[in-house]
Amino acid sequence: MGVNMSNKGLLIVLSGPSGVGKGTVKTEMVRQQAFPFEYSVSMTTRKPRQGEVDGKDYFFVDEERFKNAVANKELLEYNQYVGNYYGTPLAPVKEMLNMGKDVLLEIDVNGAKQVRSLMPDGVFIFLTPPDLHELKHRIVNRGTDSDKAIDLRMQQARQEILMMQDYDYAVVNDTVANAVDHIKAIVESEHVRIARV
Ligand code: 5GP
Repeated sequence: MGVNMSNKGLLIVLSGPSGVGKGTVKTEMVRQQAFPFEYSVSMTTRKPRQGEVDGKDYFFVDEERFKNAVANKELLEYNQYVGNYYGTPLAPVKEMLNMGKDVLLEIDVNGAKQVRSLMPDGVFIFLTPPDLHELKHRIVNRGTDSDKAIDLRMQQARQEILMMQDYDYAVVNDTVANAVDHIKAIVESEHVRIARV
């Protein structure tokens, strides 16, 4: 645990704009176990996709159960995204951190904002598309969007880049392998950091 004086694990929050590939990077980190950590399994009202396992990818619940969890303050944070609820169960996160284990959350930017105000000691990592130019290039090459749609997407992208300012680190998702390597390096550095400024 390096020079960290507390016995607590590190809370690692991986977030970023929708469509940037957070889920893919997280899945690869879990697969590789790039460093020792526990993944915080979220609760969602979304239906499972093919191959997703209840209790591993998500806790799949109905809306009533989710609303109960909110009312009972079981969630560290939650958000609604394209008509479904997503939230982080608080108890396992606390438990793992207290046991000295690092915990990874992969959540959207609204959720990350909530966590930042509640657990400011965490390390907040923003996953970003390679750059705006590249993003535009990719959208144009896809060939399905009108000029107006591209402009809208660009405006949105600029806003997403502004959101980055609330984070400790930005990691470019050029390739999944590179992104995983960078996250690993960040976590290793955090473990030998003497103090936060
Ligand atoms: P998907 O349905 O594709 O698995 O996830 C949709 C979005 O929800 C992604 O941006 C993902 O990061 C986000 N998400 C997953 N779990 C949580 C969570 O517990 N809290 C919040 N706020 N967002 C989450």
